Amino acid sequence: MVYIGCHLSVTKGYEAMGNVMKGFGGNTFAWFTRNPRGGKAKDIVDADAAALNEFVKTNNFGKLVAHGSYTMNLCASKPETRANGLDMLKKDLERMEYFSGNYYNFHPGSHVGQGIEKGIELIAEALNRYLTEDMNTVVLLETMAGKGSEVGSTFEELKEIIDRVTYKDKLGVCFDTCHTWDAGYDLVGDFDGVLTHFDNVIGLDRLKAVHLNDSKNERGSHKDRHEKIGEGYIGLEALKRIVTHPVLSDHPFILETPNDDEGYKKEIVMIKDFFA
Ligand code: FE
Ligand code: FE
Ligand code: ZN
Repeated sequence: MVYIGCHLSVTKGYEAMGNVMKGFGGNTFAWFTRNPRGGKAKDIVDADAAALNEFVKTNNFGKLVAHGSYTMNLCASKPETRANGLDMLKKDLERMEYFSGNYYNFHPGSHVGQGIEKGIELIAEALNRYLTEDMNTVVLLETMAGKGSEVGSTFEELKEIIDRVTYKDKLGVCFDTCHTWDAGYDLVGDFDGVLTHFDNVIGLDRLKAVHLNDSKNERGSHKDRHEKIGEGYIGLEALKRIVTHPVLSDHPFILETPNDDEGYKKEIVMIKDFFA
């Protein structure tokens, strides 16, 4: 059993995404909680959210992985940018409660010259403002490629954020294969070693979801350019080992590859065939 899907557009509503993914042959998906470029979130329609929750149960979907906006920078140096990020986080987490029990992942942030330590402090401070004891969403920090001044391109940095957060049981990690590869982790030669390192630093129980991507660049490039499955530097064999790794079974795998609908359908079939 594998939970596989891709990013979908929320423009036609929530239940509609479930139907689209079923049509693609998948059983999980991701969506941006608002326009990826920022701006106002789609108003929640209670009935539509409830219909998606029902659809997910009936069709045995895995956990869904909503994605925060790329413009949300919780460790921005400009006060307006950070305030805007805090507001997005607050509203996104409120909205996620309509989809009780699922995941919300986001990019920890870019420290823009303030230094990694300051970045880590600001991100943790933001999480401590809005994570609550009774929330039903698990918030996932995404592993980053280390482009520019991104925070979270090493497991140690993610661990430092987690250590500072009060409600740690509401926190996990979303493992992006393109990002960890671009950050320098050897997913091809020693994926078991990467997992062992993750376990030693963060703990594998925090690894909740995977963004499944190939990479257009060599290991350690810090570029963050996703490639179609099997067409990049990570390659099909290594990605197959990742998807079928027993430690990751039952986790949602979300494709973020450069594809149209047909391309995603093909990749979903390809992934399911690993288990055939
Ligand atoms: Fe992401
Ligand atoms: Fe990602
Ligand atoms: Zn990326």
